[in-house]
Parts: sequence; C-alpha cells; structure tokens
Amino acid sequence: MTTNEVDRTRPDVHLRIGAERLTSGSGGVYGHVDPSTGKVDKEIPLAGAAEIDQAVKAAHEAFQSWSRTAPSERRRLLMRLADLIDENATEFARRGTLDNATPMTAAAGMAGTSSEWVRYYAGWADKLSGDMTAMSTDTGELGYTLPQPYGVIGIIITWNGPLISLAMKIPAALAAGNTVVVKPSEMTPFSGELFADLVEQAGIPAGVVNILPGAPEAGAALVEHPLVQKVTFTGGPETARKILHACADQMKPAVLELGGKSANIVFEDSDLDVVCPHGVFLPVALLSGQGCAFPTRMLVQRSIYDEVVAQVTAIAENITVGDPFDPAVQSGPVINQAAVDRILGMIERAEADGARLVTGGVRLTLDGDLAGGYFLEPTVFADVDPYSELAQTEVFGPVLSIIPFDTEEEAIAIANATRYGLSAYIQTKDLRRAHRMAEALVSGEVLINGAANLAVHRPFGGFGLSGFGKEGGRPGIEEFLRVKAVGIALA
Ligand code: NAD
Repeated sequence: MTTNEVDRTRPDVHLRIGAERLTSGSGGVYGHVDPSTGKVDKEIPLAGAAEIDQAVKAAHEAFQSWSRTAPSERRRLLMRLADLIDENATEFARRGTLDNATPMTAAAGMAGTSSEWVRYYAGWADKLSGDMTAMSTDTGELGYTLPQPYGVIGIIITWNGPLISLAMKIPAALAAGNTVVVKPSEMTPFSGELFADLVEQAGIPAGVVNILPGAPEAGAALVEHPLVQKVTFTGGPETARKILHACADQMKPAVLELGGKSANIVFEDSDLDVVCPHGVFLPVALLSGQGCAFPTRMLVQRSIYDEVVAQVTAIAENITVGDPFDPAVQSGPVINQAAVDRILGMIERAEADGARLVTGGVRLTLDGDLAGGYFLEPTVFADVDPYSELAQTEVFGPVLSIIPFDTEEEAIAIANATRYGLSAYIQTKDLRRAHRMAEALVSGEVLINGAANLAVHRPFGGFGLSGFGKEGGRPGIEEFLRVKAVGIALA
C-alpha cells in the first residue's frame, strides 16, 4: 500500500457516558489539528462540567453492581477486552497516527503492549487478598484486612500515548472493582473512541467506563466532583499542581505520572553498536522525543566520548522524518506550533549556554500537504553543562544532550542532579557496577542494558518532580484499593 492509499478518514468522536454517545457537549467544539499538516481535520465535541457530572453519576451507579461482580467475571470481561484490542491492532495503529501523527510503524506496536496491560490486570482481578493481622492466641482478637475498591476513579491523560495511557490506568482500576470516568486530551480523541467501542463489545456493563474528551475545564470538573474518590493523572507538573490543590480541598488521593529528564549512563565496556542506536532512537525519533521516560541525557565515559558523539550524530542524521503514514518514516512532527516554539527556544538558549550543537536544531519544511507540519530536525547537543537549562528541563521534543563523565561516582552525581526521577538507564557489562548504581540512582525505575520500557510487570512511576504513585505490577493495582482493617474480639 502506498501512502496515498492509506485511509485517513477521521472517525466521529462522541462523549461516551453510560450507554449514551453524545454528539455535542457543553464544553463546545474543538478543531482537531493534524500535526503533520497544521490543518484542522475534524470537529470534536467537548465535555463540560454538565457532562462530567452526568458521567460521574453513571459511574457511581455502575459501581454498585460492578464492585459486587464476581472477580472471575471481571477477569473474563477484561480478557475479552484484551483480545478485542489485539483484533483491532491495525485500526488502533491508524488511530494513533491520526491522533498525534505518531509514525504508523511506532503506533503499530502500541496495541500489543496495551493488550498485555489489560491481560495482566485481568489476571489480578481474582487474586486479590488481604492479610491476617492478629490471631486470637496472642491478642484475644482475630484481625484481618479487606482490600476494597474506592468507587469512581477520575482519569486524566495527556496526548502523547493515548492508547497506552488508557491501558495503563483503566484495567487496574476495573480489576480492583472501581468504575472510571476518563478525560483524554482533546488533542487525541480517536483512540479513546475505539477503546470505548471495544469496552462495550467486550460486555463490560454500561457506566463502568465513561470516556469524554474535554478541555482543561472538564478535567478540573472531574477532579472536583465529590463522587470521584481518587484521581490518576498523566501530564505535566503545572497541571499536576492544580490537581493536587483541588484534591487537597476534599482530602482526595491522587496518582501523578509526570515528566522526566532520564539519564542514560554509557560506560566504556558497553556494546556501542547496540547502545548508540537505542540511545538515539528513543529520545529523538520515536514520538519525536515526546515521551516522559525517554533517555534524554546521555552520560558518556570520557574514554569513548568522541566515538559515541560521532556515532550518535551519524545515526541522528539518518533518521527519516516525514509523513507518519509512510512505513519508511521513523519520526513525525511534534504536537503543535506552541511545541515548535518552545523547543526552538530551548535550542537557542542551549547554544547561548555553550552546548555544542552537533546536528539538527532547526524546523524542517517538507513538501506538499506537509509544508505546514510541525517537523523538527532530530537534534543532538554535545558538551552539555549538566546544570544548564537543557540538562535540567524536560524538552519534550527531539533533542538529545550528551554529557561526559570520568568515574562511576561522577556519573551518579550528574544523573541525580535534576529535580526529576522517572527512569534511568545504565549500559555496562559489569553487573556488579550495574547493581551498585541501580541502588544509588534516584529514579522510579532503572533499565539496564536495553531492558524494554513499559513492561507491565514493572511498577512504573517517578520520584520528585516526576510525580508519585505507580502503574504496573502489583503496586499498580494496589493504587486502586483501600485497605480496611477488621478486628474481632474472641476472648
Ligand atoms: P497537560 O498537563 O497540559 O495536560 C494533561 C491533561 O490534563 C490534559 O487532558 C488536560 O486537558 C488536562 N488538564 C489541564 N489542566 C487541567 C486542570 N486544571 N485540571 C484537570 N485537568 C487538566 O499535559 P502536557 O504537559 O502537555 O503533557 C506532557 C507531559 O506529560 C510531559 O511532561 C510528559 O513527560 C508527561 N507524561 C508523563 C507520562 C508518565 O507516565 N509519567 C506519560 C506521558 C506524558
């Protein structure tokens, strides 16, 4: 199939409340922009406070029976949903590309990863248990705990990975017996619509999952709704602060999955043929650098520094940027004009700060329909001061910083010298060193020698400015359970 033959039809989007599909909402209409052309391609209805209220009430109503549904039945329904996601993998790839211009080749992998998240938490649904806390022989009391769902969970996600963000939050909440109201970003509404279709097809009862695209006002209404018992948020720190303030008023807990400035520490004993492509592809090609956990600071041991800079530069210069529907394209545009301006501003200031621009650094103007797209050249800076703005601030665009170091201690000090703490990467054949460093790094996860991102068994979630709370693994479902203690006097 040529890129001209790809179906680029934008599907209709609805506000999915219970069994209803509203075609309009009190939040007005959003003109969805295709980042690869810069043109409005679809009108999206937006939820306002009224529809959020309606959805929360539907979820509250559905909670009464969903929380009492046999765990094995919750497992069965979620397994069915996982299968349906796999069956719709091609359409999810298309929607991912329509949503935010993720290259189709990268979007294609997302359905499989997402269905694994659903399946994993389906498996937890009937394996939850409490603890025995006291036996009558010691205390005269029998004590135990009951892990129970919260009720309605408010889910707010951002635009960079619309399908995986849904899969990282909804299944764990549902497996634990909660119901959800989800506000995806209005910038990426197409994947959520299909997800809602499949929830329905899987036989998950109406009201258990409600998905309503909306602007920030809808997100705020969801957080503030008194029937919402807990919030889980993926996005930026500014919004996270507002959400925490609103939660504080009602003493409502929140999970916050925020950004990062992850260090990728490359030692002289690592395999550069593997390390260099991995170290470039994630931060400057895949999602055009718009990923929270990407290794955006490459810390390189001085003995191999010049060689790594040369290899990384050559790889970055060979990345194919262009039409995200073209199977040969590895990197698409960034999300919008504001992102272009922000990223180019950071590039300009990085040069003024003394970083050495080795490749990229400018906007790319492509031909034809793509002329108005938000394309940037994959950009690499060497000799970056670890305390400069570029090394300290998330760019969320295709910009890699390379920083030299001499010793393990220095690498740890540089890696830990930001306010973030989402992911860290270590490349070395010395496993003793790898374990030592994994303990010393201030980071929610440490990935050694190419361990894959987004593995569902691994609790994901940051420290410091990267937020708190976990998605993935057992801690991921425990976020959606509150523990009640029971004591029975037997004496
Ligand atoms: P953002 O914080 O501006 O928006 C995220 C969501 O919050 C959107 O749905 C938005 O409508 C909503 N929102 C905005 N204001 C709100 C308010 N006052 N109350 C409630 N909801 C509100 O998102 P962004 O900054 O463009 O997203 C990019 C950030 O997301 C980056 O920092 C990135 O690192 C981070 N991110 C983190 C993860 C992770 O899992 N840790 C994953 C992807 C992206």
